[in-house]
Amino acid sequence: MLSRCVQCQRELNLATWWGQRSLLPLCSTCREGVLTYGVPTCQGCGRTSSRQPLCMDCQAWRAQYGWVLPNRCLYQYNDWMRSYMEQYKFKGDYYQRRIFMTVYTKAVRKCHAQIIVPIPVTEATWQTRGFNQVLGWYQGNYQALLRLKMRDKVAQSSKTRQQRLATPQPFELNRTVDLTGKRILLLDDIYTTGRTLYHAAQCLRTAGAREILSLTLAG
Ligand SMILES: [Zn+2]
Ligand SMILES: [Zn+2]
Repeated sequence: MLSRCVQCQRELNLATWWGQRSLLPLCSTCREGVLTYGVPTCQGCGRTSSRQPLCMDCQAWRAQYGWVLPNRCLYQYNDWMRSYMEQYKFKGDYYQRRIFMTVYTKAVRKCHAQIIVPIPVTEATWQTRGFNQVLGWYQGNYQALLRLKMRDKVAQSSKTRQQRLATPQPFELNRTVDLTGKRILLLDDIYTTGRTLYHAAQCLRTAGAREILSLTLAG
C-alpha cells in the first residue's frame, strides 16, 4: 500500500487518507488542484453545463448522429490536470499512474458494463511512451476491440479544435464480433471535443452495440 504522496513523496497519514472520499494517494496540498465537476452536469459529456439536459456540444453530436454518448468525467481538465498529463503521458512517467489507479478502476466497476474497451494508442505512441495511459489507471479485464486504421496517425492532442472535429473515422474493429444487446464501456483519458469517443462508439455500433457509455479521467 502506498504510504507516501505520489507527487511530493511526503508521508501520508493513512488514517485520514482512507477517510477521504477521493482515495487519491496525494497529500492535502497536492490534492488541492484535483477538482471534480459540480452540478448541474451535462447528461452527454458529463461536464458542468447551464444548459439541460445537454450542453451545446452534445446537442451538436445528437444532431449529427441521432444519439448521444453518455460520458462520465471524473475530474476537471484544469492546470493541475494539464501538468499531470504532461508528466504522465508526454514525459512517460509511468509511476504517476498510481494517483488515479484506485479511483479510475472503481469508476469502471460502477458502470456495470459487460465489455470494457479502451481507446487504443497510436503505433508512434507505443514506440515513444510504451504504455496506454488509460490501462495504467485501469486494473481489470478489457477487450481490445478497436484498432487504428492508419499507422502513425497524428495524435489528437497536437491538433486544433477544428482539426479534431474534422478527423475522419480512425478506428475499425479488431475482429468480427456481435455486440448486440451488450452494455459497453469505452475508456479514454480526456474528453476534449468528444470526436474520438464518438468515432469509437460509432464503430462499435456497426457490430450491433446500442448501449455504449464512456468514462474519462478528465474533461
Ligand atoms: Zn504531496
Ligand atoms: Zn455535453
